[in-house]
Amino acid sequence: MTDMIQSVPQPPTDGSDKLYNERRDRIVEFLTKKGLFPLKCACCKTSSQMFFLGHKDMLTVTPLSKNGMYYPSYALACSNCGFIHSFHASVVENG
Ligand SMILES: [Zn+2]
Repeated sequence: MTDMIQSVPQPPTDGSDKLYNERRDRIVEFLTKKGLFPLKCACCKTSSQMFFLGHKDMLTVTPLSKNGMYYPSYALACSNCGFIHSFHASVVENG
């Protein structure tokens, strides 16, 4: 099932991709638990392959202020239309 959610950019293969891969697995687990997997795109309405956005230990964020405050998020981009679906990290990690 994780083949529905691919990696972009390609994760490094030197071991530093471990956290990235764990997070990708976590979002799949979360979406499955919520009955949302495979995720249907909110924009084009297809069940296209999604790309998990991140790199090594870096997650996407939702900016909160100009001085650098943010909410960490798990983001998936639709491979058909590019629409980005963003999920609050604490909900994914505790849900
Ligand atoms: Zn789409």
